[in-house]
Amino acid sequence: MSDERDIFCKIIDGEMPSDKVYEDDDVYAFNDINPAAPTHILVIPKEHIASLWEAEENQAELLGKLMLRARDIAKEAGLEEDGFRLVLNTGAGVGQSVFHIHLHVIGGRDLSWPPG
Ligand code: 5GP
Repeated sequence: MSDERDIFCKIIDGEMPSDKVYEDDDVYAFNDINPAAPTHILVIPKEHIASLWEAEENQAELLGKLMLRARDIAKEAGLEEDGFRLVLNTGAGVGQSVFHIHLHVIGGRDLSWPPG
C-alpha cells in the first residue's frame, strides 16, 4: 500500500473542494467533476488504498462497507427503480486515472452492456 497523498486524499482532508454527497468515519462520497451520466458519484475510503491490486485481506471489511454505502447512496439518489452500475477501474490500462481506490456509482440513463 502506498503512503502517497493523492488528489482524493486532499478532497477528504478539505484541501481541495468537492461536492460532498456522504461522509462517515471510513467513507467519503462526492459528485464526479466530469459526470458520465445524470448520477455519477465517487465513493472512496478515507484510508488510502491505491487500487484494488494493492488491497489487503485486512481491508476486506472496509471494502465491503464501501460497496454497501455505494448501494445506499444510489438509493438516496433515486436509482432504486431503474438500477445503477458500480465501476471499479483497476489499472491505467482500463482507465484508472486517480490512484486512490474508488467506486463509480453511475445511473440515471440507459447504460449499454458490455461497456466499452
Ligand atoms: P478513474 O478514471 O480513475 O476510474 O476515475 C477518476 C474519476 O475522478 C474520473 O471520473 C474523474 O472525472 C474524477 N475526478 C478527477 N479529479 C477530480 C476532482 O478533482 N474532483 C472530482 N469531483 N472528481 C474528479
